[in-house]
Amino acid sequence: MTGSGVTTRALPVSSEIKLALKRHDGEATIVKSRGVEIGGEKVVVIAGPCAVETKDLMLKVAHAVKAAGGSMLRGGAFKPRTLPYSFQGLGEEGLKLLVEARDETGLPIVTEVLSPEDVKLVERYADVLQIGARNMQNYPLLKRVGDSRTPVLLKRGFSATIEELLGSAEYILSGGNDQVILCERGIRTFETMTRFTLDLTAVPALKALSHLPVIVDPSHGTGRRILVPPMSRAAVAAGADGLLIEVHPEPEKALSDGPQSLNIDEFEALMDSLKPVAQAVHRSL
Ligand code: PEP
Ligand code: MN
Repeated sequence: MTGSGVTTRALPVSSEIKLALKRHDGEATIVKSRGVEIGGEKVVVIAGPCAVETKDLMLKVAHAVKAAGGSMLRGGAFKPRTLPYSFQGLGEEGLKLLVEARDETGLPIVTEVLSPEDVKLVERYADVLQIGARNMQNYPLLKRVGDSRTPVLLKRGFSATIEELLGSAEYILSGGNDQVILCERGIRTFETMTRFTLDLTAVPALKALSHLPVIVDPSHGTGRRILVPPMSRAAVAAGADGLLIEVHPEPEKALSDGPQSLNIDEFEALMDSLKPVAQAVHRSL
């Protein structure tokens, strides 16, 4: 590509993005958290309920995720809900329940932070700070987590381009936090069969452009339980470094995102089915 602001690369991208793009040595960034490496040979599965609801739920899911071969535990304590009347999360109480589940299983915890003021609190508990799709372009929040030294899982906004996602990663990297994981979680299109349209093209595109690890969230990306396993396998085949999967022992009773959550048996079956796919692309699970 030629022209102002666009570098000569296999894919067109603004030359003003610097830190998020692949370096000359081509070396990939491996994000590390409590012994788990994201961006290496192993495909990392981060799983758990959409929201932290109860202690019982968190312990049950954490043990199931660990037993099935998952590497990290997720759960939202601060929830970005479309309506103010929906369950907003347990806040600090939820963070404490995540820590209890980590203490029992050793699984590092990934949880969302919604505002710059909450970063100090959330990073006291979390191993990875999740920036949600709705906050991908919340620049004060990006700057604040750029000051942190806790790894950040940055989700693509559902109306954001791949280049804009890299621009948001640049905010965090330029603050000095080099531990950033990019996450494709579906974009908004005319399609109504699914909650969002999972843009798996983003995986090889981001891997070609950036040194950062790229994971896929087929739970939010499809919004429908039956679509999660095939799109998970497709994501691994496309080169994803990891998956973010919503799991709930009783999805029909979940306080949020039940229709896209796998139950524990379904999660175990998914993990088994991913192994040959990972192997086919020279990865392990
Ligand atoms: C979530 O991970 O529960 C979540 C709210 O995701 P997103 O920001 O992608 O909608
Ligand atoms: Mn959710």
